[in-house]
Amino acid sequence: MKTDFPFGERSYAFQEYVDCKNWIDGSWVDAASGQTIPVQNPRHERTMGEVSWSDAPDVAAAVASAKAALPGWRATPLKERVQVLFRVKQIMEANLDELSWLLSHENGKTIAQARGSVLKGIECVEYGTSISNLAQGEQLDVSRGINCEVTHEPVGVCAGIVPFNFPTMVPLWMLPQALAAGNTFILKPSEQVPYGSMRLAEIFKEAGLPDGVLNIVNGGRETVEALCDHPGIGAIGFVGSTKVAQIVYERGSKTGKKMLCLGGAKNHLVVVPDADQDLTASTMVASAYGCSGQRCMAASVMIAVGDVQSIIDKMVAQTRSMTLGEDMGSIINPDSRDRILKYINDAESRGAKVLVDGREHTVDGQPGNWIGPTIIDNVTPDMPCAFEEIFGPVLSVIHVDTLDEAIALENQNPYGNAAAIFTTNGGVARYAIERFSAGMCGVNIGVPVPREPFAFGGWNDSKFGHGDITGQDGFRFWTRPRKVTARWEMASDATWMS
Ligand code: NAD
Repeated sequence: MKTDFPFGERSYAFQEYVDCKNWIDGSWVDAASGQTIPVQNPRHERTMGEVSWSDAPDVAAAVASAKAALPGWRATPLKERVQVLFRVKQIMEANLDELSWLLSHENGKTIAQARGSVLKGIECVEYGTSISNLAQGEQLDVSRGINCEVTHEPVGVCAGIVPFNFPTMVPLWMLPQALAAGNTFILKPSEQVPYGSMRLAEIFKEAGLPDGVLNIVNGGRETVEALCDHPGIGAIGFVGSTKVAQIVYERGSKTGKKMLCLGGAKNHLVVVPDADQDLTASTMVASAYGCSGQRCMAASVMIAVGDVQSIIDKMVAQTRSMTLGEDMGSIINPDSRDRILKYINDAESRGAKVLVDGREHTVDGQPGNWIGPTIIDNVTPDMPCAFEEIFGPVLSVIHVDTLDEAIALENQNPYGNAAAIFTTNGGVARYAIERFSAGMCGVNIGVPVPREPFAFGGWNDSKFGHGDITGQDGFRFWTRPRKVTARWEMASDATWMS
């Protein structure tokens, strides 16, 4: 069977692609049921290929493969395990162009944003390569002649369930730490964008990862439920919407698994009158419309404190000058497009003002899931666009008189992924950051992702479980601490020493 599927197209022109099967024990196999569903290219609204649709028997096959590979992999020294990651990094860098175009085609991102997200995935792999220099345990003499030592042991067979918006990067939030720690792994990609994971499987194999250490089961809800229920899996990382994160967290916890489930977001960016005008306007626009607003760190609500009209005017001008299809990509599917349109229409019908209107956009007059960048002004806190996750290129602007009102609005929202303050005053920045109810905060930063080695994770309804997903926290999640308390005394008959 062919096991190398480089993606040929290096432009936005539509290209069909191979079918995406399950990756079990180092081979591509059909789902036991033989069922598949189409994978759509969102830019063209056309089917690129088919992806397998898996159920409990496929999950059982993946667990059996991962279980069989576990003893050999965990017995491989850590310093040898991370050599695979060094090679993964090299192969990904050598194939950056291909990986980025494939990602752009399956997800609809622009090539620049696709490249950025593959590079961020590579940065996660780079962090994984350093684990062998960071993962030493702790030890201490806790009493006379008694020593206590902590080692970080693999959990065993682990699984990761990932969303559509970062097909290559989000799997790499999990794989480097989980594999370096000595676990074997089952990945469940988003059925909407399975190809990024497919190429990762090929790359890890080429880099020398033994068969069975990484398996992939494609599918949807049934596949995820089978992963949650399988007693042979010890830990699951999930990234996706809040609704599903909570379901998965509760279902997996019932069978005693370690669970870390990252959910959705509604990020508030607060702008005060002393903010740097140009920096704030361009940062706000980049945050709201990068990846078409389909990222959990995107600006969703701008809270304008006092008179910041000149900044809003600059944002409007910049947003109007964007070229759809070049500066901003498409929406993942027609249902998402309809949902986003509903929020804009609803806000308008309740009296908000659509300053920049992306509703009637197409690219080259062709079909495709398009919505242009949209700014809605005079939004009030009771409008759904102010408090529900839209997950599209829509920025809602709410006006308040004081910083405390802005902070109160941010605090009211049930999510807690990101929040940011735009100001040139350090005291104002500190005051706001100390009061935001969010796990990742920015000062004059629109997408405050804590880059490696710092860990990624929100608060409140944006995360279920403890700890964060990347960096050292990720390593902690995919391991269990073993505490060894030992007493060794010189035996009185140790006469062989003399
Ligand atoms: P989603 O929750 O619909 O899907 C995520 C995964 O869960 C997919 O693999 C999907 O197949 C599976 N799934 C879907 N419905 C399920 C169900 N009922 N039961 C079990 N499994 C199910 O999310 P999405 O639409 O792919 O991604 C967008 C969402 O992800 C947004 O809400 C976004 O904020 C969130 N997200 C969060 C982060 C973060 O770090 N907090 C990062 C990226 C995306």
